[in-house]
Amino acid sequence: MERVLLSLGSNLGDRENFLATALEKISVHKEIDIIQKSPIINTDPMDVLEQPDFLNQVVEIKTSLHPVQLLDYLQSIEIELGRIRRVPKGPREIDIDILTFGDQQIQTERLSVPHHSMESRPFVRDLISKLEPF
Ligand code: ADP
Ligand code: MG
Repeated sequence: MERVLLSLGSNLGDRENFLATALEKISVHKEIDIIQKSPIINTDPMDVLEQPDFLNQVVEIKTSLHPVQLLDYLQSIEIELGRIRRVPKGPREIDIDILTFGDQQIQTERLSVPHHSMESRPFVRDLISKLEPF
């Protein structure tokens, strides 16, 4: 089992509901246990500035899935929740990113771990410091 940190974000529609539904769908996978979750905070958009504010949350899980299997599952949740790929870094109903996967360093076409937002989004570190038992 690896300890994995996930970042959840939403800036379209019923943002709180998208985060809660995504968390619920993550939790039902039999090879995923949710260990901790952070509070949900409102953040200003970065990169593409002309878009609504985000709600963001960080979640700690344990999983026996391999990184790509986990990514596949998270992307299936994004699609189920109706995420339409518009512009990169633009508005989205739900975005689920793998921040860290144990202490693995991964650089492939589909996965870059640790995720860049660990460095580029200061609120991510802040949310990690506020994780509480699920
Ligand atoms: P972003 O989150 O960068 O705004 P997307 O959510 O549309 O953009 O993801 C684009 C691609 O990023 C995905 O198809 C996925 O293969 C890739 N990706 C690379 N590293 C990661 C990671 N650590 N977590 C999630 N997706 C990742
Ligand atoms: Mg993403």
